[in-house]
Amino acid sequence: MSITAECGTLTTVTDTDVLLVEDAPEYIRLETDVLSDAGYNVRSVTTVADALVAMTAAMPDVVVLDLGLPDGDGLDLCRSIREHSNAYVIVVSGRAREVDKLRGFRLGADDFLMKPFSGRELVARVEALLRRPRTGQAEGLPRVFGELVLDPHSREVTVAGAPVDLTRIEFDLLETMSANPRRVFTRQQLLDKVWGQNWFGDDHVVDVHVANLRKKIDAGAEKSWVRTVRGVGYSMAL
Ligand code: CA
Repeated sequence: MSITAECGTLTTVTDTDVLLVEDAPEYIRLETDVLSDAGYNVRSVTTVADALVAMTAAMPDVVVLDLGLPDGDGLDLCRSIREHSNAYVIVVSGRAREVDKLRGFRLGADDFLMKPFSGRELVARVEALLRRPRTGQAEGLPRVFGELVLDPHSREVTVAGAPVDLTRIEFDLLETMSANPRRVFTRQQLLDKVWGQNWFGDDHVVDVHVANLRKKIDAGAEKSWVRTVRGVGYSMAL
C-alpha cells in the first residue's frame, strides 16, 4: 500500500502496488503502461541495488522481476525478496534454459513469464496471483502467529491453545488479513472480501467488527493482533 502524507493526516492509494525490476527500456514501458492501465500503482527500478532499497522503503504486493540485471542476478534478488517480504514474485526472462525456470521456482518465485510476452498476459498473471493464497501458505493449513492460530479449514481460532468463539464476520476478517499478513487492507477491501461486493453501506461497520474481534482474540493483552494503520485500514500485527 502507498501512504502519502497530506496536511498531517494519512491518505491512501487503495490499489495494489507493483514493483518492476527491469532494465530493458521497452519492457519497462510495456509493463508500466499495461499495469497502470489495469489500475495498479507501478514503480520501476533498473538495478538489484535500487530494488533492495525499494523493497525496504515500500512494501509492494507484487514484484515483476527480470533475471538479467546490470548489477547482479535477479535470482539472488528473488531469494532475498522471499526472505524479507510477502510480495508475490513474477520472474520474467529472455533466457530459454529450463534450468532458470526451475531455479526461479525453487527460490520462491510465484510465477514465471518467458520474454517476449504480451501486456495482456502479464496483467492476467498478476491478477491470477492476487487471487490465490500465498505460496507456502497453502489453503487449509493452519496459520500460526505465535500463540494465535487460525485454521481456515475448520474455521477455528485458538489463542494459547484456548478456542475463541468468533462470529462469521469476525472470522472472515481475521481469515482475510491472516492470508496476507503483511498487507494493509483498506476498509473497502475488507468490505468487498467479507461482506461481498454487493454490500452498500458505511465502511465504519468494519471498525465495529474489528473492535469486537480484538476484544475476543486480544483478551486484554497489551498488544493487539490487529494493527490499525491510521487513515488506511488494518493489517495483522506481526
Ligand atoms: Ca535484463
